[in-house]
Amino acid sequence: MPATRSKIEDNFQRILEDVSAACARARRSPKGVGIIAVTKAAGMEEIRHLIDIGLTDLGESHVQQLLVRAEEVEAHLTRRRRPTEGGVRWHMVGHLQRNKVKAVLPVVDVIHSVDSLRLAEEINTRAERAARRTSMLLQVNCSEEPQKSGCAVGAASHLAEMICTLKHVRLLGLMTMAPLVEDAEQARPAFVRLRELFEEMRNEKIGGEAFRHLSMGMSQDYRVAVEEGATMLRIGTALLS
Ligand SMILES: *Cc1c(COP(=O)(O)O)cnc(C)c1O
Repeated sequence: MPATRSKIEDNFQRILEDVSAACARARRSPKGVGIIAVTKAAGMEEIRHLIDIGLTDLGESHVQQLLVRAEEVEAHLTRRRRPTEGGVRWHMVGHLQRNKVKAVLPVVDVIHSVDSLRLAEEINTRAERAARRTSMLLQVNCSEEPQKSGCAVGAASHLAEMICTLKHVRLLGLMTMAPLVEDAEQARPAFVRLRELFEEMRNEKIGGEAFRHLSMGMSQDYRVAVEEGATMLRIGTALLS
């Protein structure tokens, strides 16, 4: 059963309260934490509710589904839009194949899952042809599970440096997926690792002004991720169930 608007609103309120509490524990401002609503398991009606309650950063993990949803959302907004209202921003959070870059580039705002130089170069080439600059995050496999995507921790700094030489991409920061565990505390080491890696890179002057984001934390572990410095949470289930 799709979640009703009031259910989604309640979920969103609870998440905001949790984020505030986690920020207070970590002595940070909640203003520094953005929420991306991951819509991969949502229906169109739920997506409309998300947008209506102000969640306009939307995430998908498959290119084809992102393209379909982006078109549906655009049609919905065109019907509804008042002149002052903005649109939505689409985040590609799942693994991206190089042969899909061309298709997704015109609609995507941030690609969270860049994990190789070849992929970054393909995005750069396509962005150049479209006369734009594409924002991305470098995905790091902090838990070092062999089946996980993301570059190795040891390769991240060099890769970030190389990406920063590309003129048509903008490196916003780092992304990781914690292992799926029962207890959110078990996800903490992966988040700590990403934050430390990020701080090392900043100390080495890797990345420019824009390099200030940590995309980490999902439904199970976002409170811990906020305590460890997350600036972008990617949340699906906790909003929609
Ligand atoms: C599905 C997904 C999420 C959201 O997961 P939930 O557990 O539903 O919050 C976040 N990030 C990525 C990369 C995903 O694929």
